[in-house]
Amino acid sequence: AAPPEGASAWVTIDLDAIRDNVRELVRRAPGAEVMAVVKADAYGHGLVPSARAAVAGGATWLGVAQLSEALELRAAGVTTRALTWLYAPGADFGAALDADLDVSVSAPWALDAVVAAARERGRVARVHAKVDTGLARNGALGQGWTELVRALGPVVAEGAIELVGVWSHFALADAPRHPTVLAQRERFVEAVAELERAGIRPSVRHLANSAATLTNPDAHFDLVRPGLAVYGLSPVPDLGAPEDFGLREAMRVTARLALVKHAPAGQGVSYGHAYTTSEDTMLGLVPVGYADGIPRHAGSVGPVAVDGRRLTVAGRVCMDQFVLDLGPAYAGAAGDEVVILGRGADGDPTAQDWAAAIGTINYEIVTRMSSRLPRVVV
Ligand code: PLP
Repeated sequence: AAPPEGASAWVTIDLDAIRDNVRELVRRAPGAEVMAVVKADAYGHGLVPSARAAVAGGATWLGVAQLSEALELRAAGVTTRALTWLYAPGADFGAALDADLDVSVSAPWALDAVVAAARERGRVARVHAKVDTGLARNGALGQGWTELVRALGPVVAEGAIELVGVWSHFALADAPRHPTVLAQRERFVEAVAELERAGIRPSVRHLANSAATLTNPDAHFDLVRPGLAVYGLSPVPDLGAPEDFGLREAMRVTARLALVKHAPAGQGVSYGHAYTTSEDTMLGLVPVGYADGIPRHAGSVGPVAVDGRRLTVAGRVCMDQFVLDLGPAYAGAAGDEVVILGRGADGDPTAQDWAAAIGTINYEIVTRMSSRLPRVVV
């Protein structure tokens, strides 16, 4: 697809890739349903179109962190079963029920608030109880789980809620042989058994994120909950690239050179003169910067491609722009395309390359691409 008219930089989202990635995840988790995690604007890929593409690929559930994200899906007419899981006291559970959402609870206060909203509306709230099996993040931990199970008994019996799911999240899913992975799975099975002893039998047990979906079939249970892999990125880059798992990257970030100019040897480049030209050369100005989501830490290390040639950011990344040393032989001109990230299998620099260059994870690279960059959906 053509970039938006006049745009100097843009993000292209390949929805067929998202659909096909979900198909692949469905294939790799036989017997489990797939919940596509579309929080954080679908990891920067655009919430609603990405959700629709995931559903087209076979996702029967959508997962988001915040209630506002789930409400946005509903407002756009997406009716797929959806779970929302992160709130603080004061959250509008009534709105969640009105929007036909499943909600997670990790603590008695949240259960009380959900039950109150359900009674007020005369509806049955669909709840997933979250057990902390060792991440020590969200979820009920240790005795807290026993207390939550105890609190669930009467409200399930009353019919104020249906306990649809029990779920948890791994701390080291990207290290599938790490002992905590096995320990968390065992704790999960115990937590489910504790619910069953209380007479509560949720039908949807879920534990696996992308890494566990791809590397740990023992963790699939009734539903898998991949996010990153939906967008074609590898959650275990040390174990394999996207194509090794049958995935392809859905996001491509492209810019057009805003200026190409001659500079002499010894010219300091960009703020702080952190880069100096070593010979007479051509400099190219790339009109994206840290306000667009290009990490400032990528100064002198961020990888790009111009006409198939790999280059590195020259000097500091500024708020709206950075510079490339295109070399003395560069015969191009302003308007030439710079691939910032794309598909590794096609030879493009990748989100994983950027992540490795600055010591972060590919998740952060795609999620941070700002709304100032227009999205082109293909
Ligand atoms: N489940 C929960 C609770 C999450 O917070 C996330 C994302 O961080 C996911 C699933 C999806 O994880 P991933 O993107 O690693 O597949």
